[in-house]
Amino acid sequence: MSTKDTTVPETMRSVTCRGIRDYPHHGDTLVPMPGPGEVLLRVEHAGICAGDAKCFAGAPLFWGDSTRPAYVQAPVTPGHEFAGHIAAVGAGVTAYAVGNRVTAEQVVACGTCLYCRKGLRWLCAPHDIYGFHSCVPGAMAEYMILPSKSLLHRVPSSLTPKEAVYIEPLSCGVHAVERGNPQPGDTVVVSGCGPIGLGILSVARAASPGRLIALDCSEERLALARTCGADTVLNVATLGADAAVAAVRALTDGGYGTDVYIEASGAGASVQQGLRMVRKAATFVEFSVFAKPVTVDWSVIGDTLELDLRGAHCSGDGGYARAVEMLAGGGVPAEVIVSHELPLDEVVRGIDLVNGGGGTEASCKVALDPALRG
Ligand SMILES: [Zn+2]
Ligand SMILES: [Zn+2]
Repeated sequence: MSTKDTTVPETMRSVTCRGIRDYPHHGDTLVPMPGPGEVLLRVEHAGICAGDAKCFAGAPLFWGDSTRPAYVQAPVTPGHEFAGHIAAVGAGVTAYAVGNRVTAEQVVACGTCLYCRKGLRWLCAPHDIYGFHSCVPGAMAEYMILPSKSLLHRVPSSLTPKEAVYIEPLSCGVHAVERGNPQPGDTVVVSGCGPIGLGILSVARAASPGRLIALDCSEERLALARTCGADTVLNVATLGADAAVAAVRALTDGGYGTDVYIEASGAGASVQQGLRMVRKAATFVEFSVFAKPVTVDWSVIGDTLELDLRGAHCSGDGGYARAVEMLAGGGVPAEVIVSHELPLDEVVRGIDLVNGGGGTEASCKVALDPALRG
């Protein structure tokens, strides 16, 4: 026996990822009913991730190539950044009730694989991320199911919809900074001031760095980076790589280079440039997804610099809780980071904006609001 809000309709609007550049919008999708242990969420906002935009454009990471299988299982409803109110609960759900405002971690961990057993659930082997695998349809719909293994987090009513939809990107920032492990007084460089980079800056600010430096090619984004706590912002497009490297080194103690470099731009040049900005025994964190392989002189990692090279993926163990806490504390400018709220039927326009908008319109985090009518 499930309990549901009496206003839940029979059908809803939703978006389907059917293939590369094929994301139709439907007006008559059946609203799913929660089974035992499941929750039906009425989606408030669904964020469009750079990953969604790369998937739309056909990146091999999602659609496979000669070295790897496809990750996305089309057709599927996209969307892993979301918050909403519980509209119905399935049998056996006792921790949550209709009306509760929640979000859920993007990876629905299996609980039994090697990584889950090691406490690394965000690396879970089956890796069911909402909106990519068909067993976990995502948030670009009026309603979505949160399966019984889904890890829910309560969202305080004080958070605006823009703040709530920013929980997922900020939680990724929490984990990236955790991997960088900056010490008080360290110089920290964050390359790329998109929604994740801005989250990384906000979290890094709280780690009391000696100097927090933001790099990007857009003046609008660098202005946002200042709002997120960057002490120094450098436009690598106008400076050029050599001058940007020299500028960063000149800002560090003795000119040795930065203690921590966090790469969140998705541009290969940012990796090459970062390897020239770090001091010996620095920590280089890679968060981005790249459209194509990046080439670097790998001997720099060991022989020249003895770097700590660390990857960061998704939100780690405590990312969601910390992100909710930071947003509730009011120190993160999510109201400006979320630049667009669009109806579901403008999903393709939203993705185009995330992919650069043809240079005609600036954007940062683009969110879909299923309650809006296009
Ligand atoms: Zn995301
Ligand atoms: Zn697992």
